[in-house]
Amino acid sequence: MRPLNSRHRDPALERALPGAALMLEACALVDASVDAAMAAARGAGRRWACGPGCDTCCRQPIPVTPLELLVMRAQMRFRLAPGIRARLEAQHAEQCAAEPDPLRRPCPYLLDGACAVYAVRPLACRRYLVLDQPCAPGEICTESRPEDMLIPARKALHAALALTFPWYGARWRDLGLTEPPDASPESAAAQAWLASVTVPLQRLVWN
Ligand code: SF4
Repeated sequence: MRPLNSRHRDPALERALPGAALMLEACALVDASVDAAMAAARGAGRRWACGPGCDTCCRQPIPVTPLELLVMRAQMRFRLAPGIRARLEAQHAEQCAAEPDPLRRPCPYLLDGACAVYAVRPLACRRYLVLDQPCAPGEICTESRPEDMLIPARKALHAALALTFPWYGARWRDLGLTEPPDASPESAAAQAWLASVTVPLQRLVWN
């Protein structure tokens, strides 16, 4: 089990991409909330069902915010070996040719049943954990058995997203947004703002 509140460190990435450090802090905050929820679940006799080779959740539409996507793109460009990048690109081209609807395609960062950008995967991926029994192929556990979903604290998610607000606050016009985020992360205005900038990863230019 990873240590509580571990934070992925990548000084080069953080220097190259303003906002990366904020996003990595946000990831650490969410990871800590997942660890706490999992500790409570274990105490209740439940176990983590997710494991290597299980990628069912990566085949659903994945919600991401602009900064999350930029960090993943940077990770792909600066950190992945050229051979891996080439395989991801070839795989994506094949998937686009086979399935015109982007929402029916797997996440473009999924390679050989694993996440190619695991250290900087989105908050939604970090929070999606299934208990006791692994997902069946194609199963959407949030619908089929919500009682088996781990529920990390939403307050931590809001706080994590709020860490990234300064980055948006400095760029909202450049990003084509109509307004900056509300400073209070749990306000209805901030939630509506976040919903307005969150889109399925599969719909975006990803690399
Ligand atoms: S970013 Fe990684 S963990 Fe998230 S859906 Fe894509 S492959 Fe899966």
